[in-house]
Amino acid sequence: MSLSHHTPPLAVSSLPRHDWTREEVRALFALPFPELIFRAAQIHRENFDPSEVQISTLLSIKTGGCPEDCAYCPQSAKFDTGIRAEKVMDLDAVLAEARVAKAGGASRFCMGAAWRSPKDRDLDKVCAMVEGVKALGMETCVTLGMLTGDQARRLKDCGLDYYNHNLDTSPEFYGEIITTRTYQDRLDTLEHVRNADIHVCCGGIVGMGESPEDRIGMIATLAGLPAHPESVPINMLVKVEGTPLAKGASLDPLEFVRTIAVARITMPRSVVRLSAGREDMSEETQALCFIAGANSIFYGPKLLTTPNPDADRDMRLFDKLGMVPMR
Ligand code: SF4
Repeated sequence: MSLSHHTPPLAVSSLPRHDWTREEVRALFALPFPELIFRAAQIHRENFDPSEVQISTLLSIKTGGCPEDCAYCPQSAKFDTGIRAEKVMDLDAVLAEARVAKAGGASRFCMGAAWRSPKDRDLDKVCAMVEGVKALGMETCVTLGMLTGDQARRLKDCGLDYYNHNLDTSPEFYGEIITTRTYQDRLDTLEHVRNADIHVCCGGIVGMGESPEDRIGMIATLAGLPAHPESVPINMLVKVEGTPLAKGASLDPLEFVRTIAVARITMPRSVVRLSAGREDMSEETQALCFIAGANSIFYGPKLLTTPNPDADRDMRLFDKLGMVPMR
């Protein structure tokens, strides 16, 4: 039996394309679920070993008190979420955490700071952290907010491997979520990072009350960047009491899996990360995400300030699925 007339005859190609139209992305989302997962799994195999999962650990090196108003974020100073503004962590404490992460199998150590953008004296401290973590033999990633071109080059000079800066959602929905900066601000920082020859980690969040068209717009924008981000984190909103999004409806987990699959198909050589939201996800949903092409997770008890499955639980799931950490 052939596929029904509404199934687009999209070529399964692993060659990265940057001219994805919204219509094409919309057609992928509209595929029958088994066909979508099959196509994504096929492209996954052509580019990666599907039994391998890249493991990153995320540490908040400067928590809370952020002047931005991202509606999902418990670290914004504009919302009363019970998170106190803290100072930047000491270098020794950061390196101690990195050693623990390495011993737990993490190959990349990500450090996040709740800033709108870093000051130059902040960068002195972050650069020392990047150099220290690299000396442990791990890849480094930081997320510090908006960067100028000079700041991006400075981070490159101290050896930074990845910079995380998410587009969060579609250009149309962005203003509903954040008012203190624009989508273009995000794109500008991504350009500075790319021009400095730092790998880009860039994805978004679903389950924020966006429409299906917004998920299409988000993936189409990511896949339409001049170079695909090397890492594409797809987050399921973690609803935190006190944030404007605390009470919204939850997204159907199968829609989340679809988003992962479409990210895999449109950005075939990117590592697609199953990011925030795993704490509340069943093993079956996580397994479907891995089948649909997710091949990275955050590992460790906390994601910045929200809970994450404990490491043992992750290892048990990997064992059950016959999956292993990517080296
Ligand atoms: S997501 Fe980042 S920029 Fe936005 S409020 Fe939270 S810490 Fe600040």
